Amino acid sequence: MPLNIVRNDITNMKVDAIVNAANPSLLGGGGVDGAIHRAAGAELLAECKTLGGCETGHAKITGAYHLPCRYVIHTVGPRWLGGKSNEKALLASCYLQSLALAKEHNCETVAFPLISSGVYGYPKDQALKVAVDAISGFLLENEMTVYLVIFDRASHTISEKLFSDIAEYIDDRYADEHADRRREPIRMNALSLMAPRIKSKKADEDFLDACGAAAMPAEDDLKAKLKLLDESFSQMLLRKIDEKGMTDAACYKKANIDRKLFSKIRSDVHYKPSKPTALAFAIALELSLEETEDLLRKAGFALSHSSKFDIIIEYFIEKGNYNIFEINEALFAFDQSLLGA
Ligand code: ADP
Repeated sequence: MPLNIVRNDITNMKVDAIVNAANPSLLGGGGVDGAIHRAAGAELLAECKTLGGCETGHAKITGAYHLPCRYVIHTVGPRWLGGKSNEKALLASCYLQSLALAKEHNCETVAFPLISSGVYGYPKDQALKVAVDAISGFLLENEMTVYLVIFDRASHTISEKLFSDIAEYIDDRYADEHADRRREPIRMNALSLMAPRIKSKKADEDFLDACGAAAMPAEDDLKAKLKLLDESFSQMLLRKIDEKGMTDAACYKKANIDRKLFSKIRSDVHYKPSKPTALAFAIALELSLEETEDLLRKAGFALSHSSKFDIIIEYFIEKGNYNIFEINEALFAFDQSLLGA
């Protein structure tokens, strides 16, 4: 589960390290800093006093005392001064320096708050984008699970424009739901493949003929049909990866899927992934809507216009935007589960 956006209080996160949005004195403050110091106890302040402060864009590590994690990484985000004072580079540096420290201390799981987006005034949508870009860049080269912990329920963590575009798209699709016949033939095809028993023997023969298979005795019919259905999710996924000329690692990283889960899918020909996992691979492979439906069907799922989650995925595929982290930001803003492991 390389990058997850979650709603929580960071002091509850049971991870190897949590990151504190501190101020340069490192002597505690309001917001998330205050919450972390309160939960960790006075020992944390005592250790912080020995560190001699910290510059903006840098990070220092301490113990976590009464918190349910092992370390607290203190980083100092930039104050928002309108965007022309190197804020973006400084904020990205907070994430990268914190991740480097976490790696040095062998942390496998790290949780960040949305640094600078409180008292320091960095616009939340832009702060989220910097966070996601910096963390996902790091995860392309490193194996770690990172949580971005969003505390408040402000839905506009994505830009207002994107939020309203998606909202409009959802409205249109919900409205179209009953008039939409576009997918009907595909659904019927899937049905006829999955439920051959309900068809007549003649239809069976037609079915086999149409598929280029020789007619054969009845007892072999089922076997023949099962053969025709044969390509499993795992096989189709591996075939598509080859066809796209991708490496396995490039694909699972782009899908925000961890290596262990990918190995499981790779080695188990009949592995049935969850819908978000199947969709994550469709996005990583940059499949068209039709190809996405094919891959989903292998895992026993379909896209539906009665589901906000599905419509949001469809929106991004139709726009040709296959950035899984941007898709996840949008899913998060609409309170949907995220793609990936
Ligand atoms: P900064 O000074 O870097 O802006 P703040 O603590 O004021 O730091 O806010 C950073 C972000 O942390 C804000 O988005 C705020 O909503 C969030 N936040 C505040 N308390 C918590 C908490 N207990 N857990 C997670 N995030 C929190």
